[in-house]
Amino acid sequence: MQNIKSQFPIFQSHPNLVYLDNAASTQTPVSVAQAMDDYYKNYRANIHRGIYDLSQKATEEYENARAKVAQFINAQKEEIVFTSGTTHGLNLLARSLGKNLQPGDNIVLTRLEHHANLVPWQQIAKEKGVEIRFIDLDVQMEDLDGDDLVFANMQNKFPIAKFSGPFNLDTSSAQKIIDKNTKIVSFSLVSNVLGNITHANEIIDVAKQYGAITIVDAAQAIAHIPLDIKNLDCDFLVFSGHKMYGPTGIGVLYGKKDRLETLEPYFYGGDMVSIVTYQDAQWADIPARFEGGTPNIAGAIGLGAAIDFITSIGWNNLIDHEVRLTEKLFSELQKIEGVKIIGPEFEESRIGVVSFVLEGIHTHDVAEILNRDQVCIRGGHHCAMPLMQYLGLPGTNRISVGIYNSLEDIDRLAVALEKVKKIFA
Ligand code: PMP
Repeated sequence: MQNIKSQFPIFQSHPNLVYLDNAASTQTPVSVAQAMDDYYKNYRANIHRGIYDLSQKATEEYENARAKVAQFINAQKEEIVFTSGTTHGLNLLARSLGKNLQPGDNIVLTRLEHHANLVPWQQIAKEKGVEIRFIDLDVQMEDLDGDDLVFANMQNKFPIAKFSGPFNLDTSSAQKIIDKNTKIVSFSLVSNVLGNITHANEIIDVAKQYGAITIVDAAQAIAHIPLDIKNLDCDFLVFSGHKMYGPTGIGVLYGKKDRLETLEPYFYGGDMVSIVTYQDAQWADIPARFEGGTPNIAGAIGLGAAIDFITSIGWNNLIDHEVRLTEKLFSELQKIEGVKIIGPEFEESRIGVVSFVLEGIHTHDVAEILNRDQVCIRGGHHCAMPLMQYLGLPGTNRISVGIYNSLEDIDRLAVALEKVKKIFA
């Protein structure tokens, strides 16, 4: 692991850094930075247009990156569209698929979606007069009583709803709400708040019975569990480069070939057309049809290098390491009085994204005090305000592990959390 950490320059410029906010964005290995640097320094040119060598080299590297993404998730090359990130991919889908929606149709999402997989659908639903339905979480809520933990939010103290897991998406709820009017079912494979892995096949199977289009938000899954698109068998899948040791501003929209062929582009301009007249235009083949304008060439190349980096570690090693970190994280958090973990148990189907609240202390205070010891974690609603409302929480603190974290990082976190408690005692 020391070898892996040494591949990340951030830990040389910040030797005491304990970076546990990987769900927000991961750090960059030197190989990714170098691949982008190489493009800018040695073969910088636009792609797909130039007849000259530099442009051809840039095109080749950009398309190589697409092939690496395809192989990484077991898709075909033309099924991979480069976007600027998960949010872009979901907006593209909401705009394009939304065109065909009619009043009386419905879109099915879940209670735990990131705003990126909610707000674009809300806008389309309003425009088209369609309903949004939500798959429930498997949580048991209990009535509050005087002894409940309290959560401080600025001047006020809010009670923490008493609830217990396992926090999975409730498949029986999916069966009840998906029906013949359901046109789209879109859900996260891993929650960015709770860390649970969705039983995706169960939801996709129900959606298929009714002919609904299925979309998987793999933003939190992509760097932590191997994805085989053939097994998952969804119609579309989206993710971001910056959560998988790649650059910011690059992401992927996977679409099944026949789905992409019939998807209307929604972003028009150069490079996405085949023939243009003063009156009209015809679209280029997939995937270029969805990549209008000059794309993030360096970003795509950097993403290809990030995939090489993950592949060089190997999924077994990566998962073993992250499971060890998560186990230690659970055991340390459970030792601290006043900590309540919000999300599935360690033994459940989950990754190392772990939310918790510390009794009586605002999440921002916790994160700010940890920062004094160079321990980076999140505090807040994590772009999932409706989930917070659903769980009766103003926010959580969130720890999320990555490949360069060590067991010592978790020890440093635990010591820093005890300090927070002392300050507020
Ligand atoms: N979906 C999920 C589950 C996420 O965790 C995130 C990022 N926090 C997004 C979507 C949005 O990703 P991006 O900001 O890279 O577009």
